[in-house]
This record gives sequence, C-alpha cells and structure tokens, in this order.
Amino acid sequence: MKARWVTIKHEFVEFIPKQRQEGVLYISIPYATAVHNCFCGCGLKVVTPISPVGWKLTFDGDTVTLSPSVGSSSFPCRSHYFIRRNTVVWCRSMSQDEIEWGRARDREARDRYFGTRDDLSETRKAKRRRRSGPPSPGPSRRLQRPRRASSDVDLHAPEET
Ligand SMILES: [Zn+2]
Repeated sequence: MKARWVTIKHEFVEFIPKQRQEGVLYISIPYATAVHNCFCGCGLKVVTPISPVGWKLTFDGDTVTLSPSVGSSSFPCRSHYFIRRNTVVWCRSMSQDEIEWGRARDREARDRYFGTRDDLSETRKAKRRRRSGPPSPGPSRRLQRPRRASSDVDLHAPEET
C-alpha cells in the first residue's frame, strides 16, 4: 500500500542524497533547490528549484513552506499538493486544463523575469491592475508631461503640474 504523506520532515543538506527517505523534503541552500520523493508514495523524484521563477521556500525556524503548489503533472500519479509548515495539503489530481494553465503561468513568469513581454501577458497584467483597485498614474501619463528642454515651454506655465 502506498503511504500518502501528511506530515513531513525537512532536512537542510549541501548535496541532495541519492538515497532519499520517504516523507522528507531535502533542501540545499547552496544549490537553491529542494528535492523529495513524491509524497503520494510512488517514489518518483520531485525537484523544485528555488528561484524567482521557481519555488519559494519559507523557513520559520521550525517548519518549511514551499510555494506555489507541487504538481507532478508528468507523473502517472498526477499528484498535486501544497507543502505548508511541513504539512502536505492534498489537492485533487490536476486536470488537463490546470496543467495547461500551470504551464502558461510558468511561461509568463519566465517572460517577466527575463524581460521579454508579449501582448498576452500585457493584457493579463492590465486585468490584474483593474482587479486590484484604482489604477495609479501609469508611465504613459508621465511621458505626456511637457518637456522642459524646449525653449517655448519655458516661457509658459506648464499645463500640468
Ligand atoms: Zn506520486
């Protein structure tokens, strides 16, 4: 019978051991990565790189939290869970839609990080801005201010202060 882990341990290591205990999240700070055997008990290795575009690790001195969730969509088990304060919070298996959505999100995060932008991600950002309250004056408005370098602007009071 497969052990479905609920409470796990974490271990800070320099190198991820080849022989890993079940129910342990191995964390290498020097290599900014965490590795564990899938907590469904299938024994497959799950690598979660810790980076601005990967996972974020929070250590409160006692337990660790990994975000976002771990979704092993390429595994036969299709496990999907959160690791919060050394507790595995199980989600239902990822559907194909969620897998696609997760991949799109990863792509978008990478694009943002590496500075390439496409129209799609711009649209999404605009949607997010609308949701999160009144928009602040954007960069486009600032660009419309009169330029002080020109000599006839100096003779008149600026229209916008
Ligand atoms: Zn699994």
